[in-house]
Amino acid sequence: MARGIDEFDLIRRYFAPLTNGEPGALGLRDDAAWIRPDSGMELVVSADAIVSGVHFPTSTKPADVARRALRVNLSDIAAKGARPCCYTLALQLPDTVDEDWAAAFVSGLAGDQETYGVFLLGGDTTRTPGPLSLSINIFGQAIENKMIKRSSAGVDDDVYVSGTIGDAALGLASIMGDLAVDDAEDRAFLEGRFLQPEPRVSLGPALVGTAAASADVSDGLVADLGHICAASGVSAEIQQHRVPFSGAARRVVTDSQPLWTKLLTGGDDYEIVFTAPASARDRVISIASATGVSIMRIGRTIPVTDGIPAVSVRDETDNIVEAGFGGYRHFAGDVTRG
Ligand code: ADP
Ligand code: MG
Repeated sequence: MARGIDEFDLIRRYFAPLTNGEPGALGLRDDAAWIRPDSGMELVVSADAIVSGVHFPTSTKPADVARRALRVNLSDIAAKGARPCCYTLALQLPDTVDEDWAAAFVSGLAGDQETYGVFLLGGDTTRTPGPLSLSINIFGQAIENKMIKRSSAGVDDDVYVSGTIGDAALGLASIMGDLAVDDAEDRAFLEGRFLQPEPRVSLGPALVGTAAASADVSDGLVADLGHICAASGVSAEIQQHRVPFSGAARRVVTDSQPLWTKLLTGGDDYEIVFTAPASARDRVISIASATGVSIMRIGRTIPVTDGIPAVSVRDETDNIVEAGFGGYRHFAGDVTRG
């Protein structure tokens, strides 16, 4: 490995302690690992890779790279109503990676392992002539047959979203120097929302039995709601003025519609967008207070009118918002940024 740290050193000294002594990880000394779900539970599995310069700026600190990689995966598990348990880590490291980088990267993972109650199960380490990239496979547990899918939204469901939307898109624009956020506190908040997303690990499992369909917001609110619509064969209308925006986002965006559109479509929020029948409204309110996560009802699902599921955005006077995407986006091919 680059600069005096070889692969086996890296695994033994840095990664093996992250297994927390879990028997199934076999101390990272075997070809594979094992996990056994609790009785009545099934394993929920997801993978997400991130690439330097594509999914995070090349200047991102190693601990933030680690946290981001883990948290985007935790978010997928949460959105399915499952509890995370463990993960594998595949690393493609360029020559610029040295021991300091490895130590900082591992400290980022260790902190989040404690926060989220997960451990490392195994992985793979290779060198690359390309940019740093890492891929995590995450495993969680859901009650048998209770994983919340994208495909089970009904017509006339309410549409909800957790937390606030658009902060991370503004934060990334600020980090990249494309957006000036004058207030230092607002800037730190917005950039923090990009660098250290907060996966909704307590909300997701609490939605089991209440949410009809759900997805995490990684591609953008409109796109991810669109994924639910495409999978479920419904359309949706959301009201822009009901979408929850943070104080910092409101101060930055003021009355610029292109910037509002950026919030709705920007992505990297790692909130949960879900649908539930109107009969579940009281339960959704209880779930918000029990988990301490704000949940906003932002619209509803409607029948598909012209054969293609679509998401439309409306303003306070119920007009379709003339945004960059025309306020109306179809999800025929359901292609995403990935
Ligand atoms: P193989 O040659 O069979 O691919 P490796 O030598 O790559 O095995 O890996 C040896 C052990 O180290 C395995 O248990 C593997 O899971 C673990 N390992 C390798 N890289 C990582 C990593 N980045 N994170 C966690 N575990 C790793
Ligand atoms: Mg290997």
